[in-house]
Amino acid sequence: MKNIVVIILLFFAAFSFIESTPVFAAKPPSRVELTEREKAFIRAHPVITLGTEKDWEPYVIVNAEGSISGIDSEVLGKINKLTGAGFALRAGNWLDMQKKAKSGLIDGLSTGAVQEEREDYLNFSNSYSSTQKMMLVPLGNPKKIMSNRDLDGKTIAIHKGNMADEKLATDFKNSRILECATLEEVIEAVASNRADATFGNGGTLYYANKLGLPYIQVAYPLGNELKLVFAVRKDWPEAIGILNKGLAAISENELVKLRNKWLQPDEKMLPEPMISLNESEQEYLSSVDYISMSIDPGWMPYEELNEEGQYVGLTADYMDILSKRIGKKFRLIPTDSWAQTLTFARERKCDIVPSAISTPSRREYLNFSSAYLPFPLVVATGLDKMFIDNFDSVADQTFTVVKGYAAIELLRLKYPKIKIVEVKDALTGLEKVHEDGILGYIDTIPAISYQIQKNGIFDVKISGQVGLKYDLTVGVRNDSPELLSIINKAIASVTKEERLNIMNRWVSVRYDKGVDYWLIGKVLTALVVIILLLLYRYSFVSRYNKKLLLMNSKLDLLYKTDRLTQVYNRYMLDSEMERELARAARYDSPFSVILLDIDHFKKVNDNYGHHAGDTVLVAISSLLSINVRETDVLGRWGGEEFLVICPETSLEGAALLAEKLRTKIEELHFPAMKENVTASLGVAAYVKGETGEDLVKRADDALYSAKNMSRNCVVIAYDK
Ligand code: GH3
Ligand code: MG
Ligand code: MG
Repeated sequence: MKNIVVIILLFFAAFSFIESTPVFAAKPPSRVELTEREKAFIRAHPVITLGTEKDWEPYVIVNAEGSISGIDSEVLGKINKLTGAGFALRAGNWLDMQKKAKSGLIDGLSTGAVQEEREDYLNFSNSYSSTQKMMLVPLGNPKKIMSNRDLDGKTIAIHKGNMADEKLATDFKNSRILECATLEEVIEAVASNRADATFGNGGTLYYANKLGLPYIQVAYPLGNELKLVFAVRKDWPEAIGILNKGLAAISENELVKLRNKWLQPDEKMLPEPMISLNESEQEYLSSVDYISMSIDPGWMPYEELNEEGQYVGLTADYMDILSKRIGKKFRLIPTDSWAQTLTFARERKCDIVPSAISTPSRREYLNFSSAYLPFPLVVATGLDKMFIDNFDSVADQTFTVVKGYAAIELLRLKYPKIKIVEVKDALTGLEKVHEDGILGYIDTIPAISYQIQKNGIFDVKISGQVGLKYDLTVGVRNDSPELLSIINKAIASVTKEERLNIMNRWVSVRYDKGVDYWLIGKVLTALVVIILLLLYRYSFVSRYNKKLLLMNSKLDLLYKTDRLTQVYNRYMLDSEMERELARAARYDSPFSVILLDIDHFKKVNDNYGHHAGDTVLVAISSLLSINVRETDVLGRWGGEEFLVICPETSLEGAALLAEKLRTKIEELHFPAMKENVTASLGVAAYVKGETGEDLVKRADDALYSAKNMSRNCVVIAYDK
């Protein structure tokens, strides 16, 4: 019977795939149409010089021979190509550049924000990138700077001439402001603890790493993101028109790719934990220029070659992390089919196969790394088929499986009587389940759900588990044992958050176009039918009566949990609170509560849609449930509020836990969102004689103070 609940949960898991369609649909290529006036302007001004700061990597990177690369130069290059204009960058001291722009010695500025002071003499383009301002502190945050208040009496380093920072500094009346002439000086000041903090962004961390001073880290984000724009002298409005038309013609996709290319490797909060390699592993790496890999060209959401020939999917993201940890490029050797990929591996045309499952025949030419992602195999059948409670009972029937998939070998080993029809791809396999004599199609849930969603297949359902799972591992050519141990070390260095991020990206966040209630309705109906069938079956077959009881208790659990987040609902929190109060009264034991409210959650809904908001709620609740103790009770208190009841826990203990939860949330990155979310927390310990309501009220008051202070902090309710 446990299977039933598992399958019900699988259905819910499947929802996240089938409810919507991808956001990142490619835009049709746009053409830039210039007016006669704009064309004439370009002829009259073949070169338009924009000044920028030389230290603002990766926006502006001044190369040894004097040329400029980086995000700004790439964006302007694209605009020039699309419009025929000649925007050029000049890098120097930012203060100096601003003066030159004001006096007309150069034509405008790049890498700036819209500033009122500049409006007299400059026009601004639309934004081409944005950065999140953050409070940066020395690595390890020795002064425990968690909010603006903690900077009273401390020193903040700022880059002189950076107007946004100078303005921000005026908010810190009780801090000492250390003005530095260059960004390098700012970073040095913080890295050496001469200053306690500075305002920065991903670019600052990037530059710090590049300078060999990776000794700064993020303390907390500061307010809103800063939009970067180009600015051109006021009397040249045509130039702004041209810039905006060029920007509009660059697809969002291209811009994201471009920014990621420059920012992602180092936009991490802390320097990457590099893996330590022994001599023979190092020797191996220095003997190769890159590691070659071949993939399954069509196995989404795990991996595919998309229309642009790029390798994308869950394993692509994973390999990206491994490649960075190892410090070697992974180069794709494209193949036409999975069968060809295996042939390439056998013939040593590629070093690794990112998504291999270990089978005896493959072990003749591949070693297998440790497993990095497990996925159970399930059966999809027509809607008319019964729920498969126990796969043994159907193990002599006929199923479709994609040719060459490891499932074939694994199934034959475990179920020798099984009959398998090999098909060319998942879609064919799913279509064939309606043919006479074929019971179902076997694959993993993400793969099946992806096909259901992509092809709008409504006449199949997931009917049961096979009792086998795919442990995704990296297949490594078995004549390179060093490469195997290198890959294993890199896999071991991948954090839980990184794995969660990848799953989120490919399992739900990527799909974001509202909820398809019609489809959910259908699936729900199917679910209800299954449950009814089961109830029917179990209530009439006496030997199943005991199981029925068990199922009811499991259904009961479903009823007690919050539908969206799968944690306890308000009803259960109330009843757990009663239990804890009774226990405290009887045994005189302490306990505490933590009330958590996500900051500015309305903005998440407003900026990214309600579905993205839901995803954030799900991710945060799973993060909370991972990080509280087994004995703690976690539930959803209301909309974006969660309550943790901590039995046998003092105020101090609960405060520590609250602070840990706060940091974990702040560090959680959602690939579909620009900024991370934060939460405010109120903590209160039970005082003898008070009611549960009193206790939560005190936590709520503390939470309210946290909101009033700076948000993203923990406030403790000391007294009754
Ligand atoms: P503050 O920092 O003051 O807490 O700001 P806030 O925007 O988080 O506060 P407020 O309480 O005003 O807004 C909470 C929002 O949470 C409003 C509501 O639309 C949203 N919300 C509540 N439940 C859900 C849900 O289940 N899904 C989604 N997507 N949004 C929800
Ligand atoms: Mg709220
Ligand atoms: Mg809120």
